[in-house]
Amino acid sequence: MSERPVVFRGGLVLTMDDSRTVLPGADVLVVDGRIAAVGPGLSVPDDAEVIDASGGIVMPGMIDTHRHLWQTAMRGYGTDWTLTQYFVWYYLESGKHFRPEDIYAGNLLGAIEAIDAGVTTTVDWSHGLQTPQHADAAVDALESVPGRFVLAYGNLQQGPWEWATSDGFRDFHRRRIDGGKLAGFQLAFDVTGDPAFPEKAAFEVARELGVAVTTHAGVWGATNDEGIRLMYENGFMTPGTVYVHAATLSSDSYHRIAATGGSVSVSTESEQSAGQGYPPTWALRRHGVPVSLSMDTSVWWSGDLFSAMRTTLSADRSREHLEAHGKQETVTHHHLRAEQVVEWATRGGAKALGLYAELGALTPGRRGDVVLIKNDASPAMFPILHPYGHVVFQAQRGDVHTVVVGGAVVKRDGRLVGAAASSDGRLAGADLRTARAKVAATVDHLRETLGEEAWQRGQNPDLPQAELFDNPYQYTDYDAGTAEWKH
Ligand SMILES: [Zn+2]
Repeated sequence: MSERPVVFRGGLVLTMDDSRTVLPGADVLVVDGRIAAVGPGLSVPDDAEVIDASGGIVMPGMIDTHRHLWQTAMRGYGTDWTLTQYFVWYYLESGKHFRPEDIYAGNLLGAIEAIDAGVTTTVDWSHGLQTPQHADAAVDALESVPGRFVLAYGNLQQGPWEWATSDGFRDFHRRRIDGGKLAGFQLAFDVTGDPAFPEKAAFEVARELGVAVTTHAGVWGATNDEGIRLMYENGFMTPGTVYVHAATLSSDSYHRIAATGGSVSVSTESEQSAGQGYPPTWALRRHGVPVSLSMDTSVWWSGDLFSAMRTTLSADRSREHLEAHGKQETVTHHHLRAEQVVEWATRGGAKALGLYAELGALTPGRRGDVVLIKNDASPAMFPILHPYGHVVFQAQRGDVHTVVVGGAVVKRDGRLVGAAASSDGRLAGADLRTARAKVAATVDHLRETLGEEAWQRGQNPDLPQAELFDNPYQYTDYDAGTAEWKH
C-alpha cells in the first residue's frame, strides 16, 4: 500500500507525546502510512497533499474502546430507556431478530460514523453474534470501512462457555482473524458472579488464543465485586483486560484492576442515564487505574468522543463538588483537567488496547492516524486559547475537517471521502448511501417482525408517577398578572 504523502500545514498541534508537547503553527507529515515528522516549516516530498491546518487543531485520531456498533441500526430508539428496558429489548426481544445482514448494516453505519467523527480506532463490542454467519457479516462491514477496528467477539444469546468453546467460533477465528485486516481481536463477555464460575472456560480460550478479554464489570444490578474476585482468584485478571463501566465496584476491586495491569473503559454518557453507577473516573484516578473512553451504543447516545470527553470531565467535577459540599467544603481547584480527558481519548485508548507503540500520539514512527479540527465558518472556533479546553468544551464532531487513517485521507474538507479515492481497494466502503439503505431495510425488518404495537411500546417506556412535594405556599397569594401580592 502506498498513499500519497500528506502534510498538515500550520496547525496548532497537540502531539500527545510523553511531554504533551503543544506546537503552535506546526506541520505534521505522514509518509507511507506513518508519521514522518512533526514541527514548524517541514520540507516535504513534492507529491505531498497539502492540507491547510491554519486556524485548526491537529491531534491524534481518537480511540473508542467499547462500542456496540451493530446497535447503530436502531439509532436513538432507546433514548428514554434505563438498563432494565435495554435488557428486555436486546436479550429477549429484538436482539434475537437481528440477522447477519442487520449486523452488517449497523456495523457499516456505525463504522462510517466513527471515522467521520475522527474516531480512527473503534472496539466493536459485538455481542450480537448469534452464529458465525453473524460474525462474518460484522467483519465484512468493518473491513469495508477505512478505519481501524478491533472486533470484540460476543454472543448475548449464549453463555460464553458455550460459544467460545464451539467449533463454529474456532473456525471463524481461523478464517477471519489470523492474518486478517482487523486492528485486533478480543473476547467480549460478562462475569455474573456465579460461584461456579462457568466463564472460566471462555477465559481459557482467550488465554490459548493470546487475546484480551473485555467485560462489563461493576454494572449495578448485573455485575459486581464477586465477578472481579472470581477473575482474580482464578488468575484471569491479566494485563490488557478491559473492564467496561466499573462504576459500582469496591476500592478493593479497583486495587485489583490497577495491580494486574488492566484498565477501565468509561462510558460517561451511558453511565449517566442507563444506571450502571456514577461515572467512575473520580474514583479510578485515586486508585491509579488507567482509563480510556467509550460511547457504548448509539441505540441511546451519541457516537463521538467529543461527547465522551465533555461528559467525563463534567461528571468528574460534578462528583468532586458534591462530595465536598457534603462535608461543608468548597472545591477551589479542579483535580481533573481537560488535558487529561484528551489523553484518555487518545493515548489512553491506545494503551488499553496494547497498541500504544503504534497509535495514540503524533510522534515519528507511529501510524499516521491524524485528525484536523477546523471550521472557519464557526464562531466557536475562535479564539483558540486553551487548546485542550477547546477540544473538550468548544469543538464538536461537525468541526472535524480532515481525518487521515494510516496515511489515507478518509475525510477531507468536512466530507467523507468516497470509494473513488481508493488506490488499493482498502477504502472501498465509506459509502453512506449504501449504509443508509441497509439500515432502512433492517428497521423495516424489525418493525415488521415485532409488530407495530411492540415497536412503539419498546421506545416509549411507562412513565412512573412523580410524587409532588407539599408546598406550604399558595399560588393564590400572588397574582402573576399584576405581579402583586394579594394581601
Ligand atoms: Zn456496553
